[in-house]
Amino acid sequence: MKYCNCKSKIPNLYFGDRVQFAKCRNESAKIVAVGGICLSVLASIVAWQWDTEKLQNFIHEDSDNLKRALEETIDDKNVISSAIDELKTREILNATLPGQTLDKFNIYLYTTSLDGEIRPLVFYEPKTHTYVDVSQHQPKLAGRGWLCPEFSPISTSSGGKAFGKLRRTHLLAKPCTREVKIGTDTYFSLLLLPTSDYFAAHKYWRTWSVLGGGLVLTSILTSYLLALQRYTNRVEAQVEERTGELQESNERLQQTNSQLQQTLKEIRLLNEMNDGLLACYTLEQAYAIISLYMEQLFPDFPGGIFAISESKNFLEEMSSWGEGSSIQKLFCPHDCMALRMGQPSVLGSDRCGALCKNVNRPHPSQHCCIPMAAQGETIGLLHLSSPEGAKLTQSKQELGTTVAKQVALSLANLKLRESLQHQSIRDPLTNLFNRRYMETCLERELRRAQLGGLPLGILMLDLDRFKQFNDTFGHDAGDTVLREIGLFLQKQIRGSDIACRYGGEEITLILPDTPLDVCRSRAEQIREGVKHLNIQHRGQSLGVVSFSIGVATFPEHGLTGEAVVEAADAALYRAKREGRDRVICASINAIANTS
Ligand code: GH3
Ligand code: MG
Ligand code: MG
Repeated sequence: MKYCNCKSKIPNLYFGDRVQFAKCRNESAKIVAVGGICLSVLASIVAWQWDTEKLQNFIHEDSDNLKRALEETIDDKNVISSAIDELKTREILNATLPGQTLDKFNIYLYTTSLDGEIRPLVFYEPKTHTYVDVSQHQPKLAGRGWLCPEFSPISTSSGGKAFGKLRRTHLLAKPCTREVKIGTDTYFSLLLLPTSDYFAAHKYWRTWSVLGGGLVLTSILTSYLLALQRYTNRVEAQVEERTGELQESNERLQQTNSQLQQTLKEIRLLNEMNDGLLACYTLEQAYAIISLYMEQLFPDFPGGIFAISESKNFLEEMSSWGEGSSIQKLFCPHDCMALRMGQPSVLGSDRCGALCKNVNRPHPSQHCCIPMAAQGETIGLLHLSSPEGAKLTQSKQELGTTVAKQVALSLANLKLRESLQHQSIRDPLTNLFNRRYMETCLERELRRAQLGGLPLGILMLDLDRFKQFNDTFGHDAGDTVLREIGLFLQKQIRGSDIACRYGGEEITLILPDTPLDVCRSRAEQIREGVKHLNIQHRGQSLGVVSFSIGVATFPEHGLTGEAVVEAADAALYRAKREGRDRVICASINAIANTS
């Protein structure tokens, strides 16, 4: 089962773009606000230019009208006075600039002398509707730049104040000067300047509406962007929160998944180990299988399986895995905390030294011992060491307990099986194999010899005058002799040889891959060796016992197991007849009778 890691599938580029995008979005409101204001101002300047130009056109038109009216009205005989009079009577103004326009102009009439000197004649101030005769003033003006600061000498008079206003209005509109020709050679200059009321009449509606509209639009757009930004930020925060939760649950899922995988693996290994243990015939095989699987079940934790001796005096390591197990290979049960308490014990390095004498130095960071019990009896111990860096988790400890139970049960079953098998094939007194097992072995070994073309030796041994021995020392002493003979023979034979109690005080030795001459010499060794046994019974020496031994071999003395045994038996009979305490080999002609 595989779960995708969403986070890892999102390319970094995506996150990078998102960050850039978020930055741009956050800045966009500012950009739009500043840009909108600038554009509005620019647009309003353009609109203002337009408005001003239009206003200028109005002024020019009015100036032209006034000039024309003056030229038509004033005769050339009495130029200056009639011009002043005309202006003063206001009719001309009313006629020329009808309606409200009259009140909205500063009108200034002046002459220019031949040498360029300007002589003011009259000034009409619309606010007070007064005509100011300023002909007495001699302002120093250069050319027609009469709005320059040099005009200040008349600023104290009412006319001067009016000129001051003119100067201010000049900022909004240029004065409009017209040359007025009256008669043939009289010239006046007429200057017309609008007042603030004039401007009020000709509002800068375009300027203000463009500016206002632009600002309103900008503020709407900015508000929209800010709202969008807030909304997007909120959504992004939610998405981020959800993504975080999703990633968290994904991680938890992956963790659970890997734990599940680990548990499945452990279950599989446990089952395999169980199957392997069920198929074992000997404890040795079982311990080999345990080592193999424990290494896989606890790869980070070296340890071992310890078996309690028959005497219950010590525990011995029977199986181990991993490098650097921290426990001794042989120790007393009371040195182990877990065995003393009768339950699993997990100790840290600070305590295991003090509580468990079986732990070697340097102490492991964690030391875990689990007693193994089956059928109400403690049969051993499972030990796990935790080296630096590896932590023996609760689940590992639980696994250890499960394994200990299973292994204990398997080992107990195997022990029982071994003991039953031992009982079924061994003679209890001599601990040699019994006759039934001998027959099984004989058949197998003879077949092996046949297939391999190898010799097989059979030695039939019989204690001499054992009845007499029993009669002399008692049946118990006779049993002691038989027990000691059993031990002696087991020491004398090789691992491949098979020693069986044929019956009574008669013993058979099967010697695979042993030719006749070697069989004879081994028989001699045994015969000689048994005489040197100093067997004691209840503190009493039982004297010397001796063997008569008959020797026969495959294929020389028989082609079947039975035949060879018979031949050896016949040889034994001869040895008895010939005086006992001797070795007799079967005669070759015996084969003719038995094959
Ligand atoms: P021989 O030299 O001819 O073999 O004489 P023998 O007395 O050994 O032979 P016999 O067959 O007459 O006697 C065998 C004796 O072995 C009889 C029996 O008391 C004794 N015997 C057989 N099995 C046991 C046993 O399990 N314990 C003891 N103590 N004696 C046994
Ligand atoms: Mg005998
Ligand atoms: Mg006998």
